[in-house]
Amino acid sequence: MHNCRDYSVRNDDYDAEVCLYCNTFLEVACTDPTCYFCVGRPLRPYPQDIHKIILQQLAANTHLGVGTNAWLKFLTTFED
Ligand SMILES: [Zn+2]
Ligand SMILES: [Zn+2]
Repeated sequence: MHNCRDYSVRNDDYDAEVCLYCNTFLEVACTDPTCYFCVGRPLRPYPQDIHKIILQQLAANTHLGVGTNAWLKFLTTFED
């Protein structure tokens, strides 16, 4: 079990919070059919192969305290 909020990170591609651990969006897409971010939003934020790498990195970094500077630095490695 995990708390998605502990693994949440802002995904700029979709302008939404996502959980790195379970690869889900933590915010529902809006219903605006012309919304730049929500149109074309996939079911999962990351493709399966990318998510596998993310999980491996999460596992390798479990010694990092969530919310610490080290953790925040770790999260930034997922950006672009
Ligand atoms: Zn989660
Ligand atoms: Zn939207």
